[in-house]
Amino acid sequence: MAAVPNPPPVPTFQAARHIVEQHAAQVRPGGVETLELLSCAHRVLAEPIFADRDFPPFRRAMRDGYAVRAADLASLPARLQVIGEIKAGASQEDMPAAVGEHQAAAIMTGAPAPDGADAVVMVEYTSQDGHTVTITRGVARGDNIVPAGSEARQGQKLLEPGARIDYRAIAIAASVGKSQLSVFRRPRVSIAATGDELIELREQPAPCQIRNSNTYSLAAQVEAAGGVPVLPGIVRDDMGELRAAFQNAFHSDLVLLTGGVSMGKYDLVEQVLAELGAEFFFTGAQIQPGRPVVFGRALGRYFFGLPGNPISTMVTFELFVRPMLDALCGARVDPLRFLHARLKSEIKTKTGLTRFLPGLLFGEFEDAQVELAGWHGSGDVASMGRANCYVVIPPDREKIHPGEWAAVLLR
Ligand code: AMP
Ligand code: MG
Repeated sequence: MAAVPNPPPVPTFQAARHIVEQHAAQVRPGGVETLELLSCAHRVLAEPIFADRDFPPFRRAMRDGYAVRAADLASLPARLQVIGEIKAGASQEDMPAAVGEHQAAAIMTGAPAPDGADAVVMVEYTSQDGHTVTITRGVARGDNIVPAGSEARQGQKLLEPGARIDYRAIAIAASVGKSQLSVFRRPRVSIAATGDELIELREQPAPCQIRNSNTYSLAAQVEAAGGVPVLPGIVRDDMGELRAAFQNAFHSDLVLLTGGVSMGKYDLVEQVLAELGAEFFFTGAQIQPGRPVVFGRALGRYFFGLPGNPISTMVTFELFVRPMLDALCGARVDPLRFLHARLKSEIKTKTGLTRFLPGLLFGEFEDAQVELAGWHGSGDVASMGRANCYVVIPPDREKIHPGEWAAVLLR
């Protein structure tokens, strides 16, 4: 039963992803708020961050040791006169006189290098006796001293709006003295699970019933992507109930529906969406799992109809919902990044679909290996307990041999 009149042709994975990215490029985040730095982790930056001064602001010693003139270490061991000691945080008044020929100053990591010195020799290659230090290893000019302003110049832009505020960005903001940041508001994402067989977690399932897990896995994925999940609960496979629930759900910034998008008699989701005047950008994609995935817009909001099988729901979220949600968060939409690992055991499949199969990535440094987590299809939620990635199989491959490089999606 084709619920949508004149459905668009079923795109390949890349084409479907491209369609979502094109729409994502047109959405804007909902507004801006100012938060304390510690509350900004995982949010999206709404302002540029500039260096408030040179980085480093002075010639910074990178090692504990002795500030020297490199030329004085031309013949080894060298014996130099120690003229003082410079601690991290030393001000101009704390500094010894300029380091002259055959002189050195003891210096600590993070301290300003004294005038006259052009390198720092590590303490490991020195021994001090009274006011004399003996040095057993030479240095080149500039060694172990970071020139002032070499990392960033005052006024230089260090982060652009749209950057995800990860721990790196937090370090940058802290380094330039930002105790608060302007961030984009989190979009609200409605997650409606449809299906007559579904029950809530508190309920005792009859043998024919299934616990609703998709609402919870999707809520976790939405949270991880920076959205606020809004959970209307379970909706029955009934036109009236679906209509009422969807009208409500479309008050959010993005609508996720799970279940009811396949070809069954009671897969009514698309029909109800069509009644609401939905435009459909794709109704299906050439992928496994998740082939029936639907993307469209209704009542001024984008929606995704995700197939109800739990792994299909998870995978289609990462492949298609994620870029749209990134855009609604104000974040740059990053292309999917694939790693490569050696396949441990042969994979046999059929051509035609791009497959994202639950996999287990393991192995040592320089020897990443991957194998299938061993699943019994897209409903096999238990297999996810053995998986930490997806093995991606291009549509033209029937067989991938052990030892071949396989593409891996780390999500
Ligand atoms: P559907 O997409 O509605 O045809 O459902 C496909 C399969 O996924 C069926 O076996 C459903 O029972 C199962 N399923 C649908 N929705 C959920 C859900 N929210 N949580 C767990 N399993 C579900
Ligand atoms: Mg169903």
